[in-house]
Amino acid sequence: MKRIYFDHSATTPVDKDVAKLVLEYMTDKFGNASSIHSFGREARRAVEESREKVAALLGAENNEIFFTSGGTEGDNFAIKGVAYANRKKGNHIITSSIEHHAVLHTCEYLAKNGFEITYLPVDEYGMVNVEDVKNAITDKTILISVMYANNEVGTIQPIKEIGALAKARGIYFHTDAVQAAGNYPINVKDENIDLLTMSGHKLYGPKGTGALYIRRGVRIEPVQHGGAHERNMRAGTENAPGIVGLGLACEIAKREMNEKNSRIAALRDKIIREVTAKIPHAKLNGHPTLRLPGNVNFSFLYVEGESLLLNLDMKGIAASSGSACTSGSLDPSHVLLAMGLTHEVAHGSLRVTLGRGNTEEEVDYLLEVLPEILDRLRAMSPLYGESANLKPANPCSTCHVH
Ligand SMILES: *Cc1c(COP(=O)(O)O)cnc(C)c1O
Repeated sequence: MKRIYFDHSATTPVDKDVAKLVLEYMTDKFGNASSIHSFGREARRAVEESREKVAALLGAENNEIFFTSGGTEGDNFAIKGVAYANRKKGNHIITSSIEHHAVLHTCEYLAKNGFEITYLPVDEYGMVNVEDVKNAITDKTILISVMYANNEVGTIQPIKEIGALAKARGIYFHTDAVQAAGNYPINVKDENIDLLTMSGHKLYGPKGTGALYIRRGVRIEPVQHGGAHERNMRAGTENAPGIVGLGLACEIAKREMNEKNSRIAALRDKIIREVTAKIPHAKLNGHPTLRLPGNVNFSFLYVEGESLLLNLDMKGIAASSGSACTSGSLDPSHVLLAMGLTHEVAHGSLRVTLGRGNTEEEVDYLLEVLPEILDRLRAMSPLYGESANLKPANPCSTCHVH
């Protein structure tokens, strides 16, 4: 059976040319970038060229890019690093309620260590309101961290406006741009961003690679201590193969961005259009227009996200769900709940995230099998038959905690 991958927000395949280059820097060009002999200098040169490529993708200066092991480390580095370096100035951090756990759990950790965190609400589309950011600022606020684009529903936040507000108040602005970098045009200078997290494996680069952009002049402490790597800001022998792979992935992403995005957005819009027109009790999650080009997220009433995923998987289609039932937890997505969805509606959600390898034939196949699966699942649901009288229903039969 042909397998179709519609889960690009979880991870992407490594680009073939990137993989080839990574292998080259693991085998032939394996030097330690800190060594002064020719092997070391070869690796150093490649690391610095990658820094330029990452900087070019973000509109940053080369020396504002610090390599990390990915999005999670970047978020920890940015938030803890700024918090600890500026605690004399204040202990208040503003973030949103729909952040990735790499941000939310870092903030929860800081809350246990003397910091105060404000979690901003979002509207029904998963959008942060700039006025709410403004009203949350106190004279103790040192950092605002709002993600660029949400990983579940794809909503793109008013980054430039939040950045301008932070700048005017002398507060640092960090954005987790793991989903946006390489998939959406970003310019850190135009958008008033002080710190930005990106990750390699969400843009066809290797897993365990990433970068943190830190605007020159930002007061920040390292989080990982040891050698003098990354200008004393991030200790540990540079992952030269990974860094080189990340650099090439960024170069390709920049080059292909416009063409790729318009092609993927057309497929996204076809799915949204057809599902909305043909499938009853389907609700689009996320913003109708301000969303990532590859993101589709629907809630299907009277269906469990988990059953839907398993049935799609049996047809060769890999997607994901906003219901965390699949990961062994009974809690529905904190993002969908923050957007005001009930547990029932959040449980029946499906996320399809398109990437550069997807074709219209694959989308058509999804649109062919999805209604059949939904019909079958709904026919088995004791609640669906009663849907005519719109009785409040709990469609989840395996999860007993709500
Ligand atoms: C994937 C993701 C992360 C984590 O990145 P890793 O490189 O997997 O650690 C952080 N934030 C967002 C928004 C993500 O989508």
